[in-house]
Amino acid sequence: MLSLDREDILLAAHATDWRDALQQAADALVAGGRATVAYREGLLAREAQSSTYLGQGIAIPHGTPDSRDAVLSTGVRVLQFPDGVEWHDGNRVFLLVTIAAQSDEHLDILRALTRVLDRDGVSERLATASEPEQILAELGQEVKPARLDADTVLTGFPARDRDELVLAAAARLRQAGCVGDGFISAMLSAEPRALGQGIWLVQSDQDVLQAGLAVVTPEKSLETRHGRINALACLARVPSQGQHHRPLLERLLILLEDGGGDRLPGLSTAALLARLSGESATAQVVRVTLLNAHGLHARPAKQLVQAARDAGERHGVIPSLRLEEGGDGVVSAASLTKVLGLGARRGQALVFSAATEDQAKAEAALAMMVAAVQAGLGEAVEPLADQRPTAGTSVIESAGQTSDVEAPTADSVVPAVAASPGMAIAPCWVMRLPRFDYSARSDAGADNEVARLEVGIQEARLQLQALVNRAEGAEMAEILSMHEEMLGDPELFVAARESLEEGSSAEAAWWSAIDSAARAQENLADRLLAERAADLRDVGRRVLGVLTETPLPSAPETPHVLVTEDIGPSDVARLDTTRVRGLVTALGGATSHSAILARSLGIPAVVGAGQSVLAIADGTELIVDGERGRVSVAPSASRRARAEEAIAGREQRQAAAWESRMAPAMTRDGHHVEVVANLGNTAHAGDAVERGAEGVGLLRTEFVFMAHPQAPDLATQITQYGEALDALDGRPLVARTLDVGGDKPLSYWPLPREDNPFLGLRGIRLALTRPEVLETQVRALLTAAGSRPIRLMFPMVKDLAELRAARVIVDRVRDELDAAHEAEHGQPPQRDVQVGVMIEIPSAALTAASIAPEVDFFSVGTNDLTQYTLAIDRGHATLSAQADGLHPAVLRLIEMTVNAAHAHGAWVGVCGELASDDQAVGVLVGLGVDELSVSSRQIPLVKARVRELDLATAREQARVALIQPTSEDVRSALDTLLDHADTAQGTSLDTLNQESV
Ligand code: PEP
Ligand code: MG
Repeated sequence: MLSLDREDILLAAHATDWRDALQQAADALVAGGRATVAYREGLLAREAQSSTYLGQGIAIPHGTPDSRDAVLSTGVRVLQFPDGVEWHDGNRVFLLVTIAAQSDEHLDILRALTRVLDRDGVSERLATASEPEQILAELGQEVKPARLDADTVLTGFPARDRDELVLAAAARLRQAGCVGDGFISAMLSAEPRALGQGIWLVQSDQDVLQAGLAVVTPEKSLETRHGRINALACLARVPSQGQHHRPLLERLLILLEDGGGDRLPGLSTAALLARLSGESATAQVVRVTLLNAHGLHARPAKQLVQAARDAGERHGVIPSLRLEEGGDGVVSAASLTKVLGLGARRGQALVFSAATEDQAKAEAALAMMVAAVQAGLGEAVEPLADQRPTAGTSVIESAGQTSDVEAPTADSVVPAVAASPGMAIAPCWVMRLPRFDYSARSDAGADNEVARLEVGIQEARLQLQALVNRAEGAEMAEILSMHEEMLGDPELFVAARESLEEGSSAEAAWWSAIDSAARAQENLADRLLAERAADLRDVGRRVLGVLTETPLPSAPETPHVLVTEDIGPSDVARLDTTRVRGLVTALGGATSHSAILARSLGIPAVVGAGQSVLAIADGTELIVDGERGRVSVAPSASRRARAEEAIAGREQRQAAAWESRMAPAMTRDGHHVEVVANLGNTAHAGDAVERGAEGVGLLRTEFVFMAHPQAPDLATQITQYGEALDALDGRPLVARTLDVGGDKPLSYWPLPREDNPFLGLRGIRLALTRPEVLETQVRALLTAAGSRPIRLMFPMVKDLAELRAARVIVDRVRDELDAAHEAEHGQPPQRDVQVGVMIEIPSAALTAASIAPEVDFFSVGTNDLTQYTLAIDRGHATLSAQADGLHPAVLRLIEMTVNAAHAHGAWVGVCGELASDDQAVGVLVGLGVDELSVSSRQIPLVKARVRELDLATAREQARVALIQPTSEDVRSALDTLLDHADTAQGTSLDTLNQESV
């Protein structure tokens, strides 16, 4: 989205003529680093095609598509010419809004500007403005368009009373991403107002993210104790946007003026939207998809307007236009500013209507519009790649199908990223999405297709019930029951029925209902809710499977290695660990939360193995090496034997590690490395102790918050933290204060949408915007701890200033608590409190020397530190496999951190996933790290690994690692070092250096 800042505005410019003005505009873009000098030619070429004068003294020069190569980065420069410049088309220009755009972002600016054109006296005010702010105010802040579209309209809802309609409408807004839970709560006590004709309005500005109007109609007019209800409208207002929602209310007025409220319950969504948009109920309507690559920008818009005027001249009716989706109403297709104001983009459906008694004239006028749009409005256009045929065979392609990728050959080894340690040998099962073939249209009639769909849904429900009865484990049963509930969702059926009535087949109608519901779900800010989209599609496929008699894939009952393209955290959580022996994904990285979950379930896993693994035939034997990150496909007998030996060795090693899990982790020469647990749930602290944890090195308190529907209050937090401290029985608890943001949203703490959430408001930056939340958390932690050892740790600190800002809160809360204690007991309390920061941003590592004097400890978050150092999103589908924490750049930052800390008497832990990487343990110990914090399951093995080291070899590993150029070199240098040590030391390292499979 393009936005304007005061720096983009240059006031009081003078030009001899329009070419000079254009030259100045081009120079401004070049000076701002937006374009090269060649862009000027593009601006001139564009003016030669047609004038970019918009109206009200504003012109919007921009380059031709050919000149986009000259754009360095998308941006805008606004030049004010107080005396005006005579433009080449005879208009007088006072403001040049010059755009350098790499794609069609300029449509946003255009859309915003066209709103300005409706206001009186704009050109005078723009010409005489003396401050950039005046121009900014005049041009108006870009606000999200108010929503009123297919996603916010629901027809034929089987409600029994007014309250059910209110909640259905509010839920519609929630699904469309306009409102949060607070809005739904406000609706519980809201009092709708009768507008007349059985149309009711309820409104609120609580927890509104974007203005929107939901309109819900009942199956038939409802007679209630409040009166008749034909439709209920629910308005979400954004107070800071003033009257931005007014057009939505005007749309409601249109309904009232039209009369016929009693007919509303019978309308389909499309018909209701048409009525709301102001389209006359008797108008003829056509729908055509816009194909222009850059949407309806000025040039094609002009052509469209011309076509509408021609239609008016020839057939005596000027067509109207609206977007099928979107919050705007009907506009005259002959008004350039109105047409531009729609901001139509490629792929959007334009709906033309013609209201005249003479049907033949209306049809002829509409045909002209369709022909003009299909001909490209003066531009060469390509059909949409994903345009579904409207008749004949329609196919739902399965995601991740690998028709053009070959399976790896027998006995080959596929390199991947080690994600969860352990080794598994088992036949594989590749989870492939099925392919369904069906006709998009049906000639059998809507009634027949409705009946088929009902039977399909019923059959799918029976299948699910059988699965629920067979399901092992509460979680599985719960998920399947949720699927059953989704199947019965009346909204899905109602949406499908609409398409059926328009001639779609049962399959096409059902899938389109599922797909649009899933897409609405995917748009939700709450990731957990967004993940439910996958469940919806699952449910959808089950019904399609019944309708097309296509069997759905089902996992074998026998032990197997699951191979899949990617897997979400919730999918991992529901894996049946008795059957799934190993996991291989084509995409993904080691620090994705799915990989973290696989580790906690103890399933050997590799990720990022590439698409070829999806082409492996089911039943092919695989060896998954979750330690070295490789998959052996159809292994030879000797390779298999070696792997079996390695597994036996590992089991032995694990058994031995388990036996000595309670002993401290001392290197062979007596150096103690503390091994502690990473936890997300305070209830798991006892289990961690049972596995040998010497404390908790990272309590991810945001998961404690996420487990509650709203921020837990002080008492709840004290209880939760107290639970962990009780279980730790005097062992230290490092509690990280809330680390929300990035990939961990909190539903009741809505965050503005950001282009780069990982570089935005997250961690301590976010917490400092709500100091009262941080304060309550610190109070709860200190109160729960009392005299027990508590370590407070701040996440995502970038430098000393942030530490200090957070520390002020800790010191204040601590002083208050101490004073209260003293007042009650006559003496200050005994406390064992330390304060530290996570080192997970390179700037914090680089300035560790300035932070160290003011902390007791550092804990290196290698997951984020690696992400920010290597500039690879840790959850990136394909790149995150390269986000290896054993990269020398990351290791150097850890070295700096350790040196700075030790110089000031502070200790250093590592709590990212690197701490449990078998190859990394020696390097970290060698770098001087004092504590390793790993998932509970890893504790015995990490302790055993430390015991196999001595400080001198660990330091040698660190030294060798630091001088390598890449992480691959680090890993192979460490391999060589281990091989060498193995030979030199006989059998003592045998168990570590398992033979490669
Ligand atoms: C890290 O970034 O390494 C870390 C431990 O924190 P999280 O994974 O929770 O972001
Ligand atoms: Mg982190």
